[in-house]
Parts: sequence; structure tokens; C-alpha cells
Amino acid sequence: MKSQQLKQLEVWFVTGSQHLYGPKTLEQVAEHSKEIAASFDASTTIPVKVVCKPTGTGSAEIHRICKEANSAENCIGIITWMHTFSPAKMWIHGLQELRKPILHLHTQYNKEIPWDSIDMDFMNLNQSAHGDREFGHIMARMRMNRKVVVGHWQDPKTVQRIAVWSRVAAAWADSRDMLIIRFGDQMNNVAVTDGDKVEAERIFGYHVDYSPIADLVAYQDKVTDKEVAELVKVYEKEYVFADNCIEGGKDRGQVENAARIEIALRRFLEAKGAKAFTTNFDDLAGIDQLPGLASQRLMAEGYGFGAEGDWKTAALFRTMWFMGQGMPKGCSFLEDYTLNFDGENSSILQAHMLEICPLISDEKPRLEVHPLGIGGKNDPARLVFTSKTGPGVAATVVDMGSRFRMIINTVDCIESKKLPKLPVASALWIPQPNFEIGAAAWILAGGTHHTSFSYDLTVEYLEDFAEMAGIEAIVIDKDTTISEFKKELKWNDLYYHLNKGL
Ligand code: MN
Repeated sequence: MKSQQLKQLEVWFVTGSQHLYGPKTLEQVAEHSKEIAASFDASTTIPVKVVCKPTGTGSAEIHRICKEANSAENCIGIITWMHTFSPAKMWIHGLQELRKPILHLHTQYNKEIPWDSIDMDFMNLNQSAHGDREFGHIMARMRMNRKVVVGHWQDPKTVQRIAVWSRVAAAWADSRDMLIIRFGDQMNNVAVTDGDKVEAERIFGYHVDYSPIADLVAYQDKVTDKEVAELVKVYEKEYVFADNCIEGGKDRGQVENAARIEIALRRFLEAKGAKAFTTNFDDLAGIDQLPGLASQRLMAEGYGFGAEGDWKTAALFRTMWFMGQGMPKGCSFLEDYTLNFDGENSSILQAHMLEICPLISDEKPRLEVHPLGIGGKNDPARLVFTSKTGPGVAATVVDMGSRFRMIINTVDCIESKKLPKLPVASALWIPQPNFEIGAAAWILAGGTHHTSFSYDLTVEYLEDFAEMAGIEAIVIDKDTTISEFKKELKWNDLYYHLNKGL
């Protein structure tokens, strides 16, 4: 899949000032801005281009920059910084117009006060301490969604926070143009995976389309035996084959059928320009088996996936994959599968019938074919593995009827025992702050049994995303207590009610 490269995307660095201090000061402001933007641009931590724009010194100019940012396709957001005092009424028209994400950087060119030489010339130039407060006021008054990052521009912690926001802004731009294909409908009667697709288009930009499985069958019928043989060779390089799957094995034909489905599915999604898809095990007429292996491999390439018609999780996976491009430990669609009560180490086995992304595997996956016992189709091929250990973050988006709610839970993945009779890929985690509070809070918030999970991302990424989307975000982490959490849910209901829902 030709994923949009993060490197081709731009954030614009826009410095605010005014004409009060004369042209010499403005020249210095422009020089410093160029230097700071160039340093961000050169940073390997920030994965997108950082482009310095002319200093904003008046309402018309600022308005023009904001309009240009809106219409520039590669521009995913703007970073603003007030080097001097920039009277914020000048910013109102531009900010009213701005539809791209905004990060307000509160920094200063000088790291430390030059105690011996500081004079009024210095003060006419280095005014962000009060200039950024004036600017912050107008955005607060306008109730603007934004991120505020405070720190010296050369501090790696500051750069890291800008990098997080840049990745999220890139994923936000990606979501504004996300086509999600649903083969079949939701699993009948399931509530939590369903939702308002019209609102999803309005809020996130998702376009959620239905495709009859027959459309995929038409692609499948055009796949040649040679193409299938070539893909199976790729499988042989990447995976350990079970005895029944090797050449001459009794289920070799099932592996070939899985390869045929994968080729068809990838071609179909490419032809549609889709970034995510869902399947339904009840809707597979004309397909040999549930596309388990295909879903696993397509997820690893960045296609969003949700089982049983779960388009919200499919979209969220795509977004989390997009944010985490180039990061080491991976992400996956997961389901809370079964519980393990074990005192302090009580945990939740995370798995699915088949569709877990191999990016999170801690071993060379095994390719196996086994009966499924659901859906009434032939035995499907799947990758089987256990996952890496360590901290991660699980997230979901639910439709509360009048708004979308994102629920974010930090989790600790622990070592799992072997599952010799359950041939699925899996992870095992303890939700924070512990199993009892973590699971209770998730249930109180109305969270799904499906999640999108990442080892590489943190709560900050998902909070930034929810901020850009303007949706509710609630976090379950090491500090969560049930009594405070219940109050937060009630307060949020009131807040979103007062704001007429989202
Ligand atoms: Mn499921």
C-alpha cells in the first residue's frame, strides 16, 4: 500500500509579533524564527517538515496565513509562538478561519536570562513570557482546541512533545480522507461496535461504505495460480509452517486459498482507495474461509481492520498505525478474550478468532490451519504467536448516542503461557491501575470488547487526537480511582449536554 509518507507533510511555524518595536527587532524575530523552525525541521524526532512562515504582525496577514494553511494539502497543522508581544485581537479573524490543528509553543529564544547584559533592547525582543499569555487568552476565550507545549526549543523533551503532536496531526489529516470498506454489516444485535456513520463523517472525516462480499469474489476469481504460488513463497520466507501447511500437507490448499483471498482483498482496497476494512464471519458467500491471514498481513501494512463489522475500531487502528510509523514494537486490533484471575497478576488474554496483527509478535509467527467452528466455512489459515511484553496503550471509540467517546487505558503486557489447544495469536495484559479498577472503569465508561492497541504510543498521542477531533477522551491509568472516575463520567455528560452534544 502506498501510504502517505510522513516526510512529505508539513507543519508551519508561525511567529507572532507587531510593528511597535521597529524593523530591526522584526528582522531579529524573523531570524530567530527561521533558526528555531530549521532546528525542528532537522530533528530526526519530528517526522514531518517544519516550514518557517513570515512573521504575523497584523490581522490581514495572519488571516491570510491561516487561509493558506487551510488550503495547503501538505500542511497538517501550525505551530505558533509569540516572540514579542503580539496583540491578540489581531489573531481573531485568522483563528476563526483556521481549520487545521494548532500547537501553541511557549518558548523563548534565549535559554537563560543574560543577567549582566540584559537591557531594554533585549526586553523589546524577548517577550514570549507575556506575549504567549496574551495569545493563550484569545484561544481560551474562543474555546479553541489546541495543544500547549512549554519548554526551551532545544530541550529534547520539548522536541519530543512537538513530535507527538506532529504524528497525531498527520494521522488526523489521514483520517479526514479515510474510506472504510465494510464487507457485510455489523454482527447482528451487537451494540457497542455500531455507531452513527453520518456523525463519523462529520466529526472524523471517515467515509464508511458497504461492499457486498460478491464484489470481493469477483476480484478473487481473477487471481492467477501463479500469483498465489508467489505469495505462498513469501509466506514460507516469513513464517514457520505447520506440518499440515507445508507442500504436500493435507491443508496446503487452504493456505493457497488464503493467499488468493489476500491478493484479491489488497487489490480491491487499492482500487477503492480504502484505508480500512471490516469483515463479518456470517457474510462470506463465495469465499473459502474467513480472511484471517489476509487481515493479519494487511493490518501490518497499515490497513485498519475491525472484525464483525466494527468500523470504528478499524478506523482507530489505521490512525494508531499511522501515528506509530517507523516505531519498533507495533500495534494491533485486539479483543478482550478471556480472564485470568490470579491475585495481583490477574490479567486479560487478548486475542481474536484469527485477526491479530503480526507487528506485535515476539517470535517468528507460525502459519497454521485449523477448524474455526463458527461461520460454517472451510478451515482458515492464520498466524499464531505470542506478543511482546511491556507497557502499551489500548483505546476504543464508542458512540454514546449524542457524541463519540474515546476511552484510553494504559496496560502492562506480561508473559503468557503457551496455548497448545487454542491456535490463535495473543497478548496478555494487566490493565492499569490494576485488573479490578481498570476493567471496572472500562465497563463503567461503556468501552468495547474490541480495542486498538499499541506498544509505541502513549496516552498523549490519543489525547492529542481527541483534542483535534473535539471528542470526549477519558483516561484509565495508574492514577484512576473508581469514585473520581464515576464523577468524571457524570461531569462529562453535563459538559457535552451543555455543548449540545458532538
Ligand atoms: Mn470480535
